[in-house]
Parts: sequence; structure tokens; C-alpha cells
Amino acid sequence: MLLDCLMYRLERKIVKIIDEKCVRCELCVDNCQKGAIIVEKSNGKKVKIDVEICSLCGTCLLVCPVSAVTLCVF
Ligand code: SF4
Ligand code: SF4
Repeated sequence: MLLDCLMYRLERKIVKIIDEKCVRCELCVDNCQKGAIIVEKSNGKKVKIDVEICSLCGTCLLVCPVSAVTLCVF
């Protein structure tokens, strides 16, 4: 997990969705005021965060019912 977070940090991706936990409910998508969460429908549905748009507000962490969103901090 630490290495995972480090890789995201290096890529400036601080908020991450853990795909194995995500149940694709899209609550985070509906509640992100920046429109930073994308649903990829090719090759199976996948929910991802566009870090260039994300303001790190933390709303997606709060609304996710299965704690699939994590904030990588050191
Ligand atoms: S932290 Fe805020 S801006 Fe970033 S993806 Fe989550 S809800 Fe959207
Ligand atoms: S709210 Fe959580 S479970 Fe629902 S789509 Fe977003 S990350 Fe996945």
C-alpha cells in the first residue's frame, strides 16, 4: 500500500479509488463538485479520479459506502 501511495504521489494522484473495493455505485461521481470522477465503461465499468481536476475536498471519501476511496498522505 505504501508503495502504491508513493507511486500515486509521484504522479500527483493523491486521492485514489481502490478498484477491488469499489461497488460502482457512482455516489462519488454524483457528489464530486469538480466533476473529477470518471466512469470508464470500456473493458468493464471502472471508476477513476482525474487528479488534474481534483481539489482534494474529500467529499468522495465521505460518501463512499464501502470506503473504497483513500487519501494517500505521509
Ligand atoms: S476529493 Fe473532492 S474533488 Fe477530488 S475527486 Fe473527491 S470529491 Fe472530487
Ligand atoms: S462511492 Fe465508492 S463504491 Fe461507489 S463508485 Fe465511488 S468509489 Fe466506488
